[in-house]
Amino acid sequence: MAQLYFYYSAMNAGKTTALLQSSYNYQERGMRTVLYTADMNSRDNRYKQIKSRIGLYASARAFNIKTNFFDQIVTIHQKDIIHCVLVDECHFLNRNQVIDLSKIVDVLNIPVLCYGLRTDFRADLFSGSLWLLAWADKLIELKTICYCGRKSNRVLRIDDKGLIIRDGNQILIGGNNRYVSVCRKHFVEQLESPLSLTKRVYKNR
Ligand SMILES: [Zn+2]
Repeated sequence: MAQLYFYYSAMNAGKTTALLQSSYNYQERGMRTVLYTADMNSRDNRYKQIKSRIGLYASARAFNIKTNFFDQIVTIHQKDIIHCVLVDECHFLNRNQVIDLSKIVDVLNIPVLCYGLRTDFRADLFSGSLWLLAWADKLIELKTICYCGRKSNRVLRIDDKGLIIRDGNQILIGGNNRYVSVCRKHFVEQLESPLSLTKRVYKNR
């Protein structure tokens, strides 16, 4: 039976690398995959490159807030059988889209693998993460480490000088290098410490 998977982590844990490896594993066995990634400003049926930090890349369908995953996959699946759907940056999904993805699993019996962040820079859940935590069959944490060596499960947003930003919109377009993954202890410490101390931490990185 197919299942809906939510692979979640803090920033820079290798989510995209894991997605591309999983897609490759299917393709290596002659199976067909469909990849999605977020582009909230895109129109339907556009493609965007998924790129991992270690240099792997692949072309993916861009999804935005209006994308109807179920209808798209039904259409593609009718022409040529799909064996797996993989969604990068799934934290941007909305509730209906997560339910749509679960229909792909339950009605079409195609596994759906979603990869994304659990929380934003304030440690609040993203919409997609919230609904995937509620609807996914399997929750799998991908791990990365804090500068102290503990598991990172929080994300700090920093400015170009390495200083922590405490306010702002949940989404910062094109700002992947403006985030640092840390453990919960250091997330709280950094948010509560004077700016002079946070600056010293990031100078030492
Ligand atoms: Zn730490």
